[in-house]
Amino acid sequence: MAFSRIVFLMYHELELPGRKLVQSEPGYVRYILPVETFRSQMQWLNNAGFRGLSVSEAIRYPQGPNICITFDDGCETDLIGAALILRELGFRATFYLTAGFLDSPGYLSADQARELDSIGFEIGCHSMTHPYLSDLSDVELVREIVDAKLHLEQIVGHAIEHFSCPGGRYDRRTLETARRAGFRTVANSEFHANSAATNSYQLGRVAMLRDLPLGEFGAICRNRGLWKKRLQDRTRRGVQQVLGNQIYDRLRAAVLGEHQP
Ligand SMILES: [Zn+2]
Repeated sequence: MAFSRIVFLMYHELELPGRKLVQSEPGYVRYILPVETFRSQMQWLNNAGFRGLSVSEAIRYPQGPNICITFDDGCETDLIGAALILRELGFRATFYLTAGFLDSPGYLSADQARELDSIGFEIGCHSMTHPYLSDLSDVELVREIVDAKLHLEQIVGHAIEHFSCPGGRYDRRTLETARRAGFRTVANSEFHANSAATNSYQLGRVAMLRDLPLGEFGAICRNRGLWKKRLQDRTRRGVQQVLGNQIYDRLRAAVLGEHQP
């Protein structure tokens, strides 16, 4: 049987004219799209007949063309940039918030998080303090996954069902803790579309980079050529596993001036 396949897009902070980003190093800015670039991508999707879905909607895998739209980190531009554009087009999306960053400069306030929820967007959880989860002790994992969930639930007043891994890093313990905490899904940043056959605790997502040409964006949304990115990504992850997260990051930062948001 052929499954309906949906590509999940992963966005971060957006660049708004005159507004300072929460971080400025090149490895961070690489993942930041100017708001006008985001708008042209959403318009492209709309013109091509796609519907923008939240994670809850997407994991029912309705027949397409559909696209799942997600944001990580919980920057203020989720509300003052992305939400405005998404609403104009009638698109849904899931915003994964870093619970401990709420009310810090550049991030959503608790009130803004509630507003995002009340205007029909889905709130997910992106940990408490944004560490690499695969590096943590069991006690730390509970704080980052369970406590973060409860914190966000207190703010919005209902269950938070979806989790995304900071920096895309996870291991078996991470997924088990998330499952036991009551999350229905966990999203990472592996390059594959998802279908009813995908493990709900290993949903792939494609990170949107600021220099992505619109033509390539279209191909990604149509699930074309993701295998090439997947191959490059496997090579990178292989190196990561051999070296460990910390050494890998130091090397990467030294070579590229990079940081993984
Ligand atoms: Zn993040």
